[in-house]
Amino acid sequence: MTTQSGQLYIVATPIGNLADISQRALDILSTVDWIAAEDTRHSSRLLQHYGIQSKMLALHDHNEKQRAASLLEKLKQGQSIALISDAGTPLISDPGYSLVRYCQQEGVQVVPVPGACALIAALSAAGLPTDQFLFIGFLAAKQQQRLNQLQAIPAGVGTLVCYETARRIQDTLQDVQQVFGAERELVLAKELTKTFEHFARGTASEILQWLQDDPKRCQGEMVLMIAPVAKTESDISDTALHTLQLLMAELPLKKAAALTAEIHGLKKNALYQHGLSLQQK
Ligand code: SAM
Repeated sequence: MTTQSGQLYIVATPIGNLADISQRALDILSTVDWIAAEDTRHSSRLLQHYGIQSKMLALHDHNEKQRAASLLEKLKQGQSIALISDAGTPLISDPGYSLVRYCQQEGVQVVPVPGACALIAALSAAGLPTDQFLFIGFLAAKQQQRLNQLQAIPAGVGTLVCYETARRIQDTLQDVQQVFGAERELVLAKELTKTFEHFARGTASEILQWLQDDPKRCQGEMVLMIAPVAKTESDISDTALHTLQLLMAELPLKKAAALTAEIHGLKKNALYQHGLSLQQK
């Protein structure tokens, strides 16, 4: 295969299992003028494994803006470049946005070469709804910011998917429980495509317990998924449920349901029925 010059290829690489790379990706990586890698040392292992000898240069978060300008020059001169990240699909919580944006603005063709992506791999096997989902990348490191981010997510967006680190997962699970409640179903997808791949399912406290049962489980790479509210409640947002509960503490159910319906523009009867089910718990 010949590579057309002057194009920027966005090439997905494996997220663990080295065999998860397409023939097209290997062909392109072997024939481009340059491979722009997030970490050249890290990526040279993959390239060596496949006997790829294309020249490499680094493009990471700290040099992306400056580097993008010089890469654009190369592209305009007719050279071809493949962008790869340490693992998975570039630009998905990884560098490359500035470069792709410059290319689009300057009329340089950008060609996706799809493949592994942790969020899609996790979602595809989690057993949670996939018809609608919201990917929120990495949550903030500081707890208050994280809580604000979670609280700002509107209801009805489907399954929530976020990347998380081993260091922060336990704190995040506690925050998720605080915002979405103790009953919400979660799935933690760990070490995807690797030897110790595991999907841990349950409530936040069940997954916390699973992690704490064996310190080794707190290591490795992970994707956290939060199921949407159960079907029977799906048209009542978390905020409306909260209002209903607050009002129910002060007023008869009928009045609380009517006021909540007015505040949130919802059906009185659905709220009344939901209130009844809460009272019966
Ligand atoms: N661009 C990558 C992709 O397409 O998935 C994601 C890069 S982001 C910097 C790294 C995060 O992705 C990790 O902290 C983890 O949350 C997730 N991740 C990457 N590889 C993973 C794997 N094998 N198993 C589970 N999560 C993974």
